Order: sequence, then C-alpha cells, then structure tokens
Amino acid sequence: MRRILPFRFLCILGLTSLSAASASAQFDPAKVWVEPPAIAARFPDPPVSYATPGFRAGRTDFASHAEVLAFLDELARQSPNVRVERLGVSQQGREMPLVLLADQGRIDPARPTVMVIGQQHGNEPAGGEAVLALAQQFASGPGAALLQKVNLVLLPRGNPDGAEHFTRVTANGIDVNRDHLLLRTPEARLIAAATLRFRPQVVLDLHEFTVGGRWIDKFGAVMKYDGLLQPATVGNLDAAIAASAQRDYIDAIQAAFTQAGLQGFKYHTTSGGKSADRTVSMGGVQPDTGRNVSGLHQAVSLLLEVRGVGLGRAHFARRVYTQVLAATTVIETAARQGPTLMQLTAQAGQRAKADACHGDLVVEAWQTTTRQRLDFLDAKSGEEKAVDVEWRAAEPLKIANARPRPCGYLLAASETVAVQRLQLLGVRVERIDSAAPWQIERYEILSQSDGQRQDARGAIEDGEAIRAFRVRPRMGRAVMPPGSFYVSLAQPLSPLISAALEPDSQNSYAANRLLEIGDDKLLRVPGPAPAGVWH
Ligand SMILES: [Zn+2]
Repeated sequence: MRRILPFRFLCILGLTSLSAASASAQFDPAKVWVEPPAIAARFPDPPVSYATPGFRAGRTDFASHAEVLAFLDELARQSPNVRVERLGVSQQGREMPLVLLADQGRIDPARPTVMVIGQQHGNEPAGGEAVLALAQQFASGPGAALLQKVNLVLLPRGNPDGAEHFTRVTANGIDVNRDHLLLRTPEARLIAAATLRFRPQVVLDLHEFTVGGRWIDKFGAVMKYDGLLQPATVGNLDAAIAASAQRDYIDAIQAAFTQAGLQGFKYHTTSGGKSADRTVSMGGVQPDTGRNVSGLHQAVSLLLEVRGVGLGRAHFARRVYTQVLAATTVIETAARQGPTLMQLTAQAGQRAKADACHGDLVVEAWQTTTRQRLDFLDAKSGEEKAVDVEWRAAEPLKIANARPRPCGYLLAASETVAVQRLQLLGVRVERIDSAAPWQIERYEILSQSDGQRQDARGAIEDGEAIRAFRVRPRMGRAVMPPGSFYVSLAQPLSPLISAALEPDSQNSYAANRLLEIGDDKLLRVPGPAPAGVWH
C-alpha cells in the first residue's frame, strides 16, 4: 500500500490539474492546423513585444477571463487616465469589462470618441489581447498625450463566455456579431448600452479569419494577407460617412500596413462546412453585424480581421501587432480630425432626421456578383498562387427592394418587446395618450414562408427559422387607442428604425418574431402625426 499511494496521489494531482485547465477554457491544441515551414517563414515575428497576460513567458494557451480583469484593474491603479468598469454580465455570469481612457479619466464630450471592440467571436483571441495592449499603450507614456484630443472606449471581450470556452458563438449558440439589431443576447445588449452611452464617432471591431480549412478544401491554398478590412456596407448608410471611412481610415490603415511590411486587402470569406461553393464574398451587407449597425448609428465603422483562426498560438504576436497598428492609426486619425470628425457624424444624424417623409429607403440589398483575382499561398509549397474567383462585392449594393420613406411607424400597445429593443438601440418612442384618427398604410401580406437568415458565410445557424414576408403597403385610416406607440423617423437613428420595422427583410423584427404585422399591430405613417396625441 505504502508504495502505491504516492503513485495514486500523483495520478489524482495530474487529473486535477487537467480538469482545472479545461475548466479554465481554452482551445484544443489537437485542432490546430500546423503551417508547413515554407508558409510559416513568410510571417516573422514583429519588432515589438507585449507585456499583456497572453504573452506571459512559456504560455501555451490564451489569457483567461480572470487574468484579463486582473490586468485591467492593475492598469487602472497605475494610471489616472484609466477607468475600468463592469458593463454587466454574460449569459454565464462573467463580467464584461469596459475600459475608459481619457485625460485624467474624464470623457470630454467635445473630443471624438473611438470605441474598439475585441473578441466578439471567442475563438479569435488576438482582438482581446490587442485591446489590452492598446489600453497599456495609451494609459501612460507617449501614447497618453493623444488623450488630450480623443477619448477611448475599449471593450476587450464582446463575448466573455465564448472567449473562455474558445467558441465563436455565445453560450446559447447565438452569434453576438449578428445580433446587434435584434438584441437577443445580453452581450449584444451590453454593447448597445455602451454605444448609446458614449456615442462613439469611430468604431473598430477586431476579428480573426480562417487561414487554412475551407480555403485548402476549395482552392488548395491558404490565406496570405495579414489584415483584411471593410467599412460599414449596408443600405441607408450616410454617403459622407462611407466616403470618410474608406478615404481617411481604411486607406490610412493599408498604408500603415505596407510601411510595416504587412499585407492588407479587402475583407473576404467563403462558406464553410462541406460546401463546395467556390464563391468568395466580402463581408455582409445586412444591418446585423456590429460593423453595419454602428454605421447606421452614424459612426465611422470599420472591421479588421487578421490571419489567425485555426493557427493556435502561431504568429500570435504578429496578429496582435497587426491589430494594434491598425487601431493606433485609427485613433491618431480621429485625434487629428477632431472637430471635423465630430461635425461629420453630427451632420449625418441631422440628414437622417431631415429625410423623414422624403425619398426612398432601402428595405433589402444584396451584394453584387463580379470577378476578382485573389492572391493566396499554395497550401503545400507556400508559393504565391493567384486564383480568379466569383466575387460578391459589398460595393456597390444591389438594391432588391426599396419603398417611399414614411414619417414614422405606429405599433400597437401589445408590441412592447419591439419597443424595448428599439429603445435599447437609442430610438425615441412616443406613447400615445389620446385616441385620434391617423392616415396610415397597412402591410398587405402577399406571401409568408419559413426562411433562414444568411450572411457572407452562408446560413446563420442559430436554430431559429424566420418568417420571410412579401408585403405591399396599402393606404387607409385607423384610430389608434391610447397606449399605442409612435416611432418617428425624424430622428438620427432613422436608418436603424426602418431596418427593424419594415417587415420584409431577414433582420426585421417581424421576420424574427419580435413583432406582429396583422390586426393593425404595425402600421406605416406616410404624413405628419395628428397634433396633441402624446405629451
Ligand atoms: Zn469574427
């Protein structure tokens, strides 16, 4: 017995540490795709090192949630410019941290605010780590000087449960980065609350893309770009904001990449799973992603994806470096633009407000199919390999459905779920307190079928069928009783309101069962509201 006990004791210790390791999350090293040496050699380490938890010496996994919180709290203790808050909790009760970096920790509303969001997809750890590195870079030293010109709002982990378990989606299987209009997850609601509270002029969303996998299956090749970029591309986006996003931000980041020896291109992806479809698609054009919803909030909104998914720890410093470099370029640009940037976004809001009752709005738009030559690396030899692909371009948009923009919408008193979601987005909703006849348009339902939401990668697999409507607005009159709701389009968030309320698109509240259409539950209002129906 005496000889066996120590052995058993060791086994128990071994098991304990193994289960502790898996309970604290982390990726499965067995699923890592190991690059052939000829490919790996093309991506040397950057000329910098980071002192964030994910780069602790000897590390074989990524930073845990507890390490992220401890790192940020310590940073706040060291620098008067840093304030760390807990925004709220994830589905599994993890606190979502928010980091404010401002001169002496005080947000100045006269300065532009840049928001950076990391790791909405939990299996894309570079974004989370890059946000920690940014917090450190701007907390003190030369970086802090920029806080005289710009406020920073940093969300290191948009999906804390996914980060801890190294999964793309949140704990209930919903992709938080397709949930920014519907707000079905607490994580998307917390990001919406931060957006509403700080109203950032610029939003940068950090992700990683698949390097091998589907690209090897379809093209015998792997991705060669360090960073892929895309601004907001969605119907009803302000044209001046879209132009500035490309010219002042995306082009500047591409130039910074080139100067640093990194390669950038337009963001693109392709369907996964067993799909044989060789079409390559730019990022989506629906009002569901953080990128597109922030654009409809009249922010300059940018997506950066770096070469990382499937690589495990390989090139982690280079992946983080690519993101930190892009974010620094964005922050410097916003600081330099200052009042010009504030004016650009404010005027876009004023334009959206003034557009109520006028012109047409885009109900549904899709990508335009064309061809594109893409550079890859041969999966075996690592040699450059150009491939001509069918390409779904996010610009120009192909408008599939448009109709006259009303002055507003009426919702029945029963439709409180939809009203609450709109309010979480920052939309102003009036409650009617006296009955009056309204000139309205009813949605005549021409057809209704089960459908599925799609994005640039194919079907969005969160298990919920949507109601695909075809409708036609028909003029009429209705007496709306007290307790009904009026949502005017004469407000800056007008593009988000129509995205949620026009029923015949895949992200509408009606399609996603947050709102009913029949029995005068949802009506369009083509003219001015009667006087004195709310106070
Ligand atoms: Zn992602």
